[in-house]
Amino acid sequence: MKKTSPYVIAIDGTSASGKSTNAKLVASKLGFTYVDTGAMFRTLAWYCLKSRIDIHDPKAVAQLCKKWKTKLMCIEGKVRLLVDGYFPESEIRTAETSAAVPHVAAVPKVREWMKLKQRDCIDFGSLVMEGRDIGTQIFPETEHKFYLDANLAERSKRREAEGVQEDLAKRDQRDSQRSTAPLMVPLGALVVNTSGLSPEESCRLIIDAITEKAPEIKEACKNQAR
Ligand code: C5P
Repeated sequence: MKKTSPYVIAIDGTSASGKSTNAKLVASKLGFTYVDTGAMFRTLAWYCLKSRIDIHDPKAVAQLCKKWKTKLMCIEGKVRLLVDGYFPESEIRTAETSAAVPHVAAVPKVREWMKLKQRDCIDFGSLVMEGRDIGTQIFPETEHKFYLDANLAERSKRREAEGVQEDLAKRDQRDSQRSTAPLMVPLGALVVNTSGLSPEESCRLIIDAITEKAPEIKEACKNQAR
C-alpha cells in the first residue's frame, strides 16, 4: 500500500475564537492527533511564575526555557507537554497565567524552542495543530491553513462561560504586535468567522475545505468509520 506522509492542519486565530473546539472536533473526525500549542506556552508561563522568574525579563525566561525538563507525550490522541514529569491542566488556565503568557511567548529564544518541539509532534502522525503561528512559522509548508476569528463580544462571552474574566483585546494586541512570529492571517489561509456559527457548522466548513484539496482524507475517514 502507498504510504502517504502525515498531514498537518494548521488552525490559527484570535483568543477564544473557537480554535480549540474546532481543532478538537476536526481531529476527532479525521482521526488525527490534536496539538494545543497555546497550552505549551501557558505551561512555560505557569512554570516561570512557579519558579519566581520575572516574566518581563526575556533573558531569565529564555534561560529557564533552555533548561526546564520536559517531555512530549501523546495520550488518547492529544499531545501533552509534561514538565518535571507533571502535566499541569487547570493551573495553566487561570487569569494570572493568561496575563503572563504573551510576555513569555514574545521571547525569540522561547519561540525557537517551541518551534522545534512543535515540529517534533509530527512523530505522532497527522496533526491538527492550533495556535498563533502554525501556518506562518511552524508548518508554513502545509496547504491546510485556517484562521479563526469572531467578534469581541462573542469571544468574551465564551471565556466568561468558562469562568475566566480577562481582557482578550489586550492579549490579541500583544500577540499581533510582537516582533517575532506575530499573530497574522497566514498566506493562503481560509478565514472563518465563527460568530453565530455552531461548532458543528464551522467544523464542517473546515473539513470541506480540507477534503476538497485532499479527497483521499475523506476516503481514509470513511474507512475508519467502517
Ligand atoms: O491559545 P491560547 O489562548 O491558549 O494561547 C495562550 C497564549 O499563548 C496566546 O495568547 C499567545 O500569547 C501564546 N501563543 C503563541 N503562539 C502559539 C500559541 C499560543 O504565541 N502558537
